Amino acid sequence: MQLIDGKTVSLAVKTAVKDAIAQEGIEPCLAVILVGNDPASRVYVNNKKKACSFCGIRSLEYTLPQETTQDELLALIDRLNKDESVNGILCQLPVPPQISEKAVIDKINPKKDVDCFHNENVGRLWTGNDRLKPCTPAGMMALLDYYNIDPAGKRCVIVGRSNIVGKPMAALMLSRNATVTVCHSKTQDLAAVCKEADILVAAVGRPKFITADMVKDGAVVLDVGINRLPDGSLCGDVDFDAVKEKASYLTPVPGGCGPMTIAVLMQNTLTAYRIQNGMTK
Ligand code: NDP
Repeated sequence: MQLIDGKTVSLAVKTAVKDAIAQEGIEPCLAVILVGNDPASRVYVNNKKKACSFCGIRSLEYTLPQETTQDELLALIDRLNKDESVNGILCQLPVPPQISEKAVIDKINPKKDVDCFHNENVGRLWTGNDRLKPCTPAGMMALLDYYNIDPAGKRCVIVGRSNIVGKPMAALMLSRNATVTVCHSKTQDLAAVCKEADILVAAVGRPKFITADMVKDGAVVLDVGINRLPDGSLCGDVDFDAVKEKASYLTPVPGGCGPMTIAVLMQNTLTAYRIQNGMTK
């Protein structure tokens, strides 16, 4: 089994972004909004700022209190939409319950939507006209490319149908000519469906959910899950120790799919800059 090294690949992607920014003599800008004080969100925002600084992207942080109203948040997004010096806008999810996630996503200018959550960008993705990429799924495609794993003609099974991971992963896999099945909590005989996969993507959010009996010999297994165990350690959706005996390639958690999300976010910020400055269609 070959371990897929997300740290190495993410560094390669971020270095390419950094080099392009230096070569073009530009300074893209990413605005990150954090509402409330969820500790996990704080860690994600800090990591995003660190990656920006590595790549030569200016980062702005807006930390709003937990009790922020939806109108207040939408007013800030409106201001950032209009600010020509801001190229990317990201509101760290989840937001507190008084704020509608959908209202936030709808408000962000699609040209600045570096998370690729806006309906316009989701539509572009499914019609093959995407410019900004869904970060976590595009990160997984970059992992496959790095290891010369071509999805064309392969059977890809994705467990999970969220708007953030499962569905956009299906669109990307389809665009690369895989035969795609998307599973969810109502799927019958999940193990048998998973076992048909040449490429199995686990995006469920349940520790060690994918067991060895669900994996075909020689399958490529991408584990998106990030689960915190009672002892504080991180664990994926795949039973790593058992599945590593069957998979040909496998992502560890942490250090597999996780680091790729931020790398693609950096790519998207550069793309957003180029879109807004007429450098791309
Ligand atoms: P969601 O909770 O939004 O979606 C989970 C999906 O899993 C749903 O489609 C659900 O089905 C499905 N599911 C739940 N239970 C079962 C079951 N018993 N059998 C089959 N399917 C099931 O999660 P996300 O997609 O946002 O995230 C998934 C995991 O990936 C999480 O651990 C998250 O932390 C991680 N993650 C990691 C990222 C990264 O690496 N950077 C980025 C984003 C997420 P149904 O729709 O029917 O409810």
